[in-house]
Amino acid sequence: MNLVLFGPPGAGKGTQSKILTQTRGLPQLSTGDMLRAAIAAGSPLGLTCKALLDKGELVPDETVIDIIAQRYDQPDCAGGAVFDGFPRTIPQAEALDKMLQQRGRKIDLVVELKVDDAELLARVENRIKAGGVLRSDDTPETLAHRLEVYYKNTAPLIGYYRDQGKLQTVDGMAPVEVVTATIAGLLQGLRP
Ligand code: AMP
Repeated sequence: MNLVLFGPPGAGKGTQSKILTQTRGLPQLSTGDMLRAAIAAGSPLGLTCKALLDKGELVPDETVIDIIAQRYDQPDCAGGAVFDGFPRTIPQAEALDKMLQQRGRKIDLVVELKVDDAELLARVENRIKAGGVLRSDDTPETLAHRLEVYYKNTAPLIGYYRDQGKLQTVDGMAPVEVVTATIAGLLQGLRP
């Protein structure tokens, strides 16, 4: 089974992906995590992407399409995966469809986690107040830019997947357990 989770920054994609990994055994394919790992390792990919991540800009489509294709061909993705934060643009969505089709697979479900901007800002402010290690892009200023990027580049995926009949919108303002249960219900309703 292949699932796509998308939504604005801080909507809960990572949290729900991790839960799906635990409950369904599907690996979480987070391009953000992969890019941060490349930055931490100081690899050439990390060096070229660091400034973009810090500013909340998207890295080029070809870069993330390449890293997703390499990761998807690992044996643990034989039963599918949860795509977290990918695709983020229409060309990425088209590349994902093509990549899966070439492997005789498809996307089974796309979940849009809907959360309003004020709540996303409140979540960042709460993480800052709570202290601990924060991501370099986890600030109110960068969030504002990441939201602009989201509405401009990523929100068009709503129409793309709605046209394919794959989109389900879930209220991401609900408590984590409620969101988890809603997604579980959607998965149960999928035709084999
Ligand atoms: P995330 O952890 O998903 O919030 O991603 C953090 C940052 O990584 C984003 O703000 C982008 O700079 C970059 N990034 C992650 N995924 C993608 C993607 N699919 N396309 C382009 N840039 C991405």
